[in-house]
Amino acid sequence: MAAELIDGKAFAAELRERVAGHVAGLRAAHGIVPGLAVVLVGEDPASEVYVRNKGRQTVEVGMASFEHKLAAETSEAALLDLVARLNGDDAVHGILVQLPLPAHIDADAVINAIDPAKDVDGFTLSNVGLLGTGQKAMVPCTPLGCLMMLKDRLGDLSGLDAVVIGRSNIVGKPMAQLLLGQSCTVTIAHSRTRDLPEVVRRADIVVAAVGRPEMVPGDWIKPGAVVIDVGINRIPAPERGEGKTRLVGDCHFESCAAVAGAITPVPGGVGPMTIACLLANTVTACCRAHGLPEPEGLTA
Ligand code: NAD
Repeated sequence: MAAELIDGKAFAAELRERVAGHVAGLRAAHGIVPGLAVVLVGEDPASEVYVRNKGRQTVEVGMASFEHKLAAETSEAALLDLVARLNGDDAVHGILVQLPLPAHIDADAVINAIDPAKDVDGFTLSNVGLLGTGQKAMVPCTPLGCLMMLKDRLGDLSGLDAVVIGRSNIVGKPMAQLLLGQSCTVTIAHSRTRDLPEVVRRADIVVAAVGRPEMVPGDWIKPGAVVIDVGINRIPAPERGEGKTRLVGDCHFESCAAVAGAITPVPGGVGPMTIACLLANTVTACCRAHGLPEPEGLTA
């Protein structure tokens, strides 16, 4: 393996330590405890795991965690009611509504009901617009984590060619905006892109956010490029025993690592950074709510 491994787990642990330091400082100097409310509707097993992890890590860094678990048949009106209550609750500085929501609920309506100042996922139209126009926004957690790791590895990104594969509102588009904000030359590739291998071969930075196991092989990667693999895909692993599975990214790790300058593994790359960035955004939101200076080291 030629590439340096970008250790997202260690990076996330350092970020959580910085968050915990700010939380302790807010409590000692101002008697303020940052609070994060997470809302889960229904019983999607993957979402339940995410919500549990978010709650645990929120408490571990010294913040207050408010978990709201609602039945799958909860009405949109009841959910909007809860969001309104959380918007008005001074102990809550960040609100996250876990996606996906059940089909009978309009997810856009619910997300946009969140006070943009408490929108620690950065999904409201207001924050999307602020990010798109280069203004101070709440930045979506997964792309924020990717940018932090890229800047740590590369320093100044100005002028670099970046290819983002995937154009989702959650990862691809905000990632492209962030890279543009760093003066990269950005290409967004997607399912209709012609000659994807050639497009990817131009890139100094590749961010893969597709959700297709190991679709990017090493011979698409420019030697020395930095590869950020956002994909999380569960595939059968008969070599581990009958019925066993394992997680892989959107990039074929071994072949990409043989060519790249640096690469994030799956698991242990982008994944751990996402929750750490959520905690960081909550502390930032808390400081802004109280008119305190922006905390240092919590954003890219
Ligand atoms: P999505 O399904 O919303 O978007 C996928 C994108 O990939 C689409 O824009 C589509 O155009 C593009 N695409 C599909 N097939 C393609 C192809 N053959 N070639 C090029 N582009 C193609 O997914 P998402 O929510 O952006 O998530 C993407 C992946 O990232 C998933 O595996 C998801 O689990 C993972 N993810 C990880 C984290 C994390 O914390 N690490 C967070 C969010 C998402």
